[in-house]
Amino acid sequence: MKMKMKPVVNQLRPYEPGKPIEDVKAEYGLDKVIKLASNENPYGSSQAVQKRLTEASTPQLYPDGHASVLRRAVANHLQVEEGQLLFGAGSDEVILLLCRAMLTEDTNTVMATPTFSQYKHNALIEGAEIIEVPLKDGFHDLPAMAEAIDEKTRIVWVCNPNNPSGTYNNADDFSAFMERVPSDVLVVSDEAYAEYVEADDYPDTLSLLKSYDNLFILRTFSKMYGLAGLRIGYGVGVKDFVSKVEPLRPPFNTTTLAQTAAITALETQTFVADCHRNNLHEKKKLESFFRDQDCYCYPSETNFILVDVGVSGDDVFQALIRRGIIVRSGEALGFPHCIRISIGTENENEQLMTAFAEWNAHGKMKV
Ligand SMILES: *Cc1c(COP(=O)(O)O)cnc(C)c1O
Repeated sequence: MKMKMKPVVNQLRPYEPGKPIEDVKAEYGLDKVIKLASNENPYGSSQAVQKRLTEASTPQLYPDGHASVLRRAVANHLQVEEGQLLFGAGSDEVILLLCRAMLTEDTNTVMATPTFSQYKHNALIEGAEIIEVPLKDGFHDLPAMAEAIDEKTRIVWVCNPNNPSGTYNNADDFSAFMERVPSDVLVVSDEAYAEYVEADDYPDTLSLLKSYDNLFILRTFSKMYGLAGLRIGYGVGVKDFVSKVEPLRPPFNTTTLAQTAAITALETQTFVADCHRNNLHEKKKLESFFRDQDCYCYPSETNFILVDVGVSGDDVFQALIRRGIIVRSGEALGFPHCIRISIGTENENEQLMTAFAEWNAHGKMKV
């Protein structure tokens, strides 16, 4: 092939999704396979959403690019102004838009490592330099991240809680960090798992927007609200900033169906409360199980847990997949001796624990 790509394209690797269930069934000759790999909501989405989706159908019409009705609903839900919101096909797309709007080859961007892969991926495409600051015991090292900022820094990413470690940074630490970040550097607080957080000292970033116009918050309907397949998420910032990024947004980036589902999902907060409670209950069970198995769990405020299994995560991934359970190996996530497990339903977690205990009883070195 003779076409000349941007040089950076040769450096990029496609995103590796969790293995699809059907592929695993075929490959391992299994009837039943459960997937605890992509942090999806194991309880699905609310019944109201499912009902609404069967009724809604105007596929011949372009969506409302401005997402007016959803915009009003989210603004009302968060108590912010409509002009503070930027919608994307998942918060992934909002990450892309921020990088497009702010990063060039002459700039850099600061992030933790390991953290969510899309910050680096999109920043690389814009040619920016990537400055990675190692996690400290699994937590964002905010003082070191503030220290890493220089005159070329445009965006600092704080994944809170962090994927893949599940850990969070508290309000005091986050505010101290904001105080140190120069006011011309954007801080992105990616809160994809905010609805799962239990800690009462989790930062209230929406209030901080009143003090810091260089703060931007990412939220999604993919995790707690159970709409990962519809692709819808958003960012919240100050109006002046949002109105600068808005023109970069593809005009019809969120679909009618996604907007409709998201509006209904926001209305069904009892579903959110139920999922929150179930997740917490199941998380505690899994944590105590892994403690009994002599495996360290990073403290999680999310719907997944990162477990140190003491051997290659790939080996445990293989041992579990043969038993019909798909998890994420930590090898590709920057935690080679870990597996990341999405917290499933009671039944799914029972199967996971049985399979893990069976593997562990055979001696950790044997797959
Ligand atoms: C899942 C996830 C997202 C993005 O989800 P979308 O489906 O694109 O909204 C963003 N950040 C983190 C940390 C995530 O885990």
